[in-house]
Amino acid sequence: MDRVSLSKISQVIQGKFIRPDLMMSDVEGLSIDSRRIKRGDLFFAIQGKRQDGHQFVSNALEQGARACVVKQGREPEKLQQPLIYVDDVNRAFEQFASWYRSQQQLTVIGVTGSVGKTTTRTMIHTALSPFLKGIQSPANYNNEFGVPLSIAQIKSDHAYAVLELGASHQGEIRALAKLSRPEIGVITGIGPSHLEHFGSLERTADAKGELFEQLPENGLAILNGDDPFASCLISKASARTLKIGLDESNDFRAASLRQTSEGVSFKVEGIEFFMPVLGKHFVYPALFAIAVAKEFGLSNQDLVEGIRQFTTVQGRCHIEQIGPWTIIDDSYNSSPVSMKAACQVIQGWTGTGKRIVVMGDMLELGAESSRYHQEIGELIASSGIDLLFVCGKQAEAVAKGAISGILSQDQVLQAADVSEIQKEFYSRLEPGDVVLIKGSRSMRMERLIESLKQQA
Ligand code: ATP
Ligand code: MG
Repeated sequence: MDRVSLSKISQVIQGKFIRPDLMMSDVEGLSIDSRRIKRGDLFFAIQGKRQDGHQFVSNALEQGARACVVKQGREPEKLQQPLIYVDDVNRAFEQFASWYRSQQQLTVIGVTGSVGKTTTRTMIHTALSPFLKGIQSPANYNNEFGVPLSIAQIKSDHAYAVLELGASHQGEIRALAKLSRPEIGVITGIGPSHLEHFGSLERTADAKGELFEQLPENGLAILNGDDPFASCLISKASARTLKIGLDESNDFRAASLRQTSEGVSFKVEGIEFFMPVLGKHFVYPALFAIAVAKEFGLSNQDLVEGIRQFTTVQGRCHIEQIGPWTIIDDSYNSSPVSMKAACQVIQGWTGTGKRIVVMGDMLELGAESSRYHQEIGELIASSGIDLLFVCGKQAEAVAKGAISGILSQDQVLQAADVSEIQKEFYSRLEPGDVVLIKGSRSMRMERLIESLKQQA
């Protein structure tokens, strides 16, 4: 963040500062988590779903926060601390981020969609960052708290910020887009994620489409032209639109797509691209990155170089050698779309060991959850898998699908939780095996990866 004086901040958030002697000192960053404070940060005592930030104000000051934004009457006892009083801390946090964004001249690229936001955002940043100064959202910061914190990473010499915008309810993307003001909007695709909240794929498309509605007329809306909801999304944009994908109708089309044990190669407008990853689905994030980078005027040679630099993000189809086993770590999250992509990756594996899938529930799928799980079970069975471990409440549905496919009872093992499969898992695991580990976030499938690291 650029330096901002406490007096300016008080003015922007209409706060009352109780240490006038410190008014002219500057803040260099924002924090809402006292464990991650950096000296010189401004701490906002946010009221979250589980925690009230006011409990951590003293701690934040001890850790080096320059000042804290609090609600009057909720502050720690010692007076004469550098506190700014406001009526509503959460609102003040948003107000500050909105003002700070308005001071910056850079181009914001907003990325939303049901699946692949983090992957796409990372790919865009990988393509741009060798040539231009800019940032991407840290970690998985994509909500009402993460987006303001991401905005606070921007500095006045940045040419771009690629920000992930997430939502599980109608209206959330609109609010995040108003705050971050993207000129370029990317919608990765529409799929059954958070279906429990959105209700239907149509409503999911409406919610993601809020990003295109918010783009200025001279902006650019980039979308997956192979997606069944492409024309619905296009209808929401008054900005110029650009379609990427494999179909011939797209503006940027990948041809000659090939997966080898080294990585994925493809051609766009006759130019050959390569990225060292496994999974043909990575061609979509790459096409988004190419489209964005072209908009920034990068040369074809720079584009090829940028895409070649891409490496997978931890927990997202990230291949790791742990001792004698190859792990496809896709433990960060799961949904039917990403589960299908992961099945293709393990199916294409060329090693000689067994192919093993350890799958946890895909959550928030609403009323059709069992059907989705059964279908994925069938898909796993048809993907050349030797052994399937299923964990969670939907284990039965996945197993049913897998056994109605071509797997036998003995190849499918069910458990309530990943911690319960350990004994059977290790008794079947052999050197040279490849293991895909995937499940929704709260299934915490990464516990198996941690255990594998200890065994190796
Ligand atoms: P979240 O909503 O949790 O932030 P996200 O939209 O940021 O998710 P990622 O974390 O990038 O998505 O990826 C989620 C899963 O989808 C991972 O398993 C990843 O490998 C897979 N994935 C990424 N891109 C694609 C794609 N284009 N097609 C299918 N699966 C994909
Ligand atoms: Mg993400």
